[in-house]
Amino acid sequence: MGVPDDIDALVDEARAAIAAARSTEDIRNVAALVSGKKSPLAAASRGLGGLEPDARKEAGRRLHEARTTIEDLVERRRTDIKFEELSRQMEDSRVDLTEFIGGSIAAPATRGHLHLVTQTRDALEDVFVGMGFEVAEGPEIETDWFNFGALNIPPAHPARGMWDTFYLNLGAPETTVLRTHTSPVQVHLMEEAVVDGGLPIHAVMPGRCYRRDTPDARHLPVFHQIEGLVVDKGITFADLAGTIEVFTTAYFGPDIHSRLRPAYFPFTEPSAEYEITCTICHGEGCRTCSQTGWIELGGCGMVDPAVFDAVGIDPDQWTGFAFGFGIDRCAQMRHQIADMRALTENDFRFLRQF
Ligand SMILES: [Zn+2]
Repeated sequence: MGVPDDIDALVDEARAAIAAARSTEDIRNVAALVSGKKSPLAAASRGLGGLEPDARKEAGRRLHEARTTIEDLVERRRTDIKFEELSRQMEDSRVDLTEFIGGSIAAPATRGHLHLVTQTRDALEDVFVGMGFEVAEGPEIETDWFNFGALNIPPAHPARGMWDTFYLNLGAPETTVLRTHTSPVQVHLMEEAVVDGGLPIHAVMPGRCYRRDTPDARHLPVFHQIEGLVVDKGITFADLAGTIEVFTTAYFGPDIHSRLRPAYFPFTEPSAEYEITCTICHGEGCRTCSQTGWIELGGCGMVDPAVFDAVGIDPDQWTGFAFGFGIDRCAQMRHQIADMRALTENDFRFLRQF
């Protein structure tokens, strides 16, 4: 082997092989090939012995340089490969936090809002609080006494047929029901007022109610009511009618008015149905209001003296009125929702409109 002539080519070949190595295993194999015992470099070194002393010295120096260059190249490539492999490993195990930070890369974050029924309840409370009412709440499971008895509806009274009731526990020790209206909260308030000397009462009571109704366009088995109660001295039917009219225009707008028509409820005497100007035709007459221009919203009346007796309030000293209507119905009328079931179906296309 003509040592001096081949050294540059030998280094170039080694350089190419080293650059082509892609993994730790590759570089180990390449290192053996270019600088190991069986490498051309080692063979050339062994060939030095057959040279003249001067030529041997010169060739030895050049071979030493070549070995240093090759071994240096191997070490550098080994370091690079280690770094590349580590980077690949980190890339593979990386969690892309940008998908979660503000959702800027994935879907944009959407902010929800209160359900229409909750918005309606809040708006109704605001109107009544503005009129001087307090907001009160009560339990959704009631005893027979609070839901019926104290409200002048004794057991077996035919008026119980007006409420298709979910009974939870019939009879002993006490009959309990899912409240069919928010009226039991009135009884709680009046009983507490008698104990605490809390009269007069000016309160509204929003809440969830339950009846065995099959869902349809105008009825839900779980629905929301808001009820009002005033107990004070010298309260008359005119106060009731005035309160309802002020509320109606405040909530529905100045061109929607109220009217009261005689009705029957066991706990008020006299009683009235509370109707408002049809929100669809504004009183002109349309299919929704059966061409009358009016839509029924709820019921109201003067608190029956028998209810005062039941809770221990002296009906000769105190008078009062009560009214109640559906919050869901209110939302339906104000936003002209054709089918009340849309309120419980959780369809975003519907909910996003409010
Ligand atoms: Zn109408």
